[in-house]
Amino acid sequence: MSDVKVFKFGGASVSTADGFKNVANIIKTYANQKLVVVISAIGKTTNALEKLLQSYISQSDDTKSLLANIRNNHIDIITSLGISDKSCLEDIHDTMVELDWILDEDPNQDFDYLYDQIVSLGEMLSSKILFYYLKHQSTNPEWLDVRDVIITDSTFRDARVQWDITAQNVTHKVPLMFQNTNLIVTQGFIGSTLQNETTTLGREGSDYTAAIFSYCMDAHSMHIWKDVPGVLTGDPKLFDEVAKLPRLSYREAIEMTYYGAKVIHPKTIKPLQNKQIPLYVRPFSDVNSVGTLISDVQEVVYPPIIVIEPDQCLIHISTKDFSFVAEHHLSKIFALISKHRLKVNMMRNTAISFTVCVHQILERIEKFQADVQDEFKTLRDDDLELITIRHFTPDIVKDMKRNKLILFEERLSDTVQIVTKSLPSMKLKE
Ligand code: ASP
Ligand code: MG
Repeated sequence: MSDVKVFKFGGASVSTADGFKNVANIIKTYANQKLVVVISAIGKTTNALEKLLQSYISQSDDTKSLLANIRNNHIDIITSLGISDKSCLEDIHDTMVELDWILDEDPNQDFDYLYDQIVSLGEMLSSKILFYYLKHQSTNPEWLDVRDVIITDSTFRDARVQWDITAQNVTHKVPLMFQNTNLIVTQGFIGSTLQNETTTLGREGSDYTAAIFSYCMDAHSMHIWKDVPGVLTGDPKLFDEVAKLPRLSYREAIEMTYYGAKVIHPKTIKPLQNKQIPLYVRPFSDVNSVGTLISDVQEVVYPPIIVIEPDQCLIHISTKDFSFVAEHHLSKIFALISKHRLKVNMMRNTAISFTVCVHQILERIEKFQADVQDEFKTLRDDDLELITIRHFTPDIVKDMKRNKLILFEERLSDTVQIVTKSLPSMKLKE
């Protein structure tokens, strides 16, 4: 184990100049300790960049004003922070010019490729502002371009990390940087191919970035600073009564995030578990709180934990000639599910049909349907919600089903899953 701690700050922690000040204060509490700070794009910048991309692709007149809003938002924050170093504005300007150049070209490249070139710039901007602000505060940070260390394949928008070369890069470059500083600031969410093309790791991927660093450096601990007190038993936006879970096992955390708990990116836990690195999910509003500790505990007794994942779709696949759905059919169907990168959350087969619940990414689902149609008939139910209740009690299950159309239900030891049609009038919280 090394003595390095890895911190991750999400967009909500730096949505304003005050947010940056708070982050700097948290970092100062750890002065003289080796920190790698991974930061997301400011506030809702990633969404704004996605809109900009859409507008650019459709060559809409809004592109200029969307771009101006992003630029102004960042410049306003720099001004409010009172950063006097001229290089800050110059650096931000250079990054914005990169964006201008991309937007000046005709949008005839692959969508996912363009997405990564444009949307990745949010993290470049935020990490530079944090770096210059920390410098302005007389700490001595170093800025690391994460694309020099995290190497991925070229699955744009969902890039897979090439672990061997990434680990080599991290173990080579990061200790060298720590010879001059205790504080390294870098970007979440993004990586690079070996051909130097920028990639992204999937939405909310900054947690995963922090886990990659933690793993490669055998970190002392990883800390995700959030706008909630820790990991909760349900989404506070949906339920009035939620409680903080003080401790969680890696296993419980991976199950929760797999089923859609938004508190941590699902890919985060595995690298940490593999090296037994503790993960703290902590509130950025209270530096003294340790939040939730996720580690290798076995003996925890959990209250019911509810995870609701919207945007689900059921695909019913059946044979055209009434023949049984046999193993060779299933293997064919699964090969295509994997080819089209559908994420399966639940499944069941009957004599002549097979039903899967998947994330509703229609462009992928439609391609999948087209690919199976020679042999199978498919039917779809869209706009569904997947409710997962871990450590359920009969009462909670009854509560969750009230006034809902249940399309699919499954129970397995300590987990109940229900796919429902969600109607706006049935919102749980008043
Ligand atoms: N900025 C990216 C997003 O909003 C990555 C992250 O925040 O983790 O998805
Ligand atoms: Mg985020």
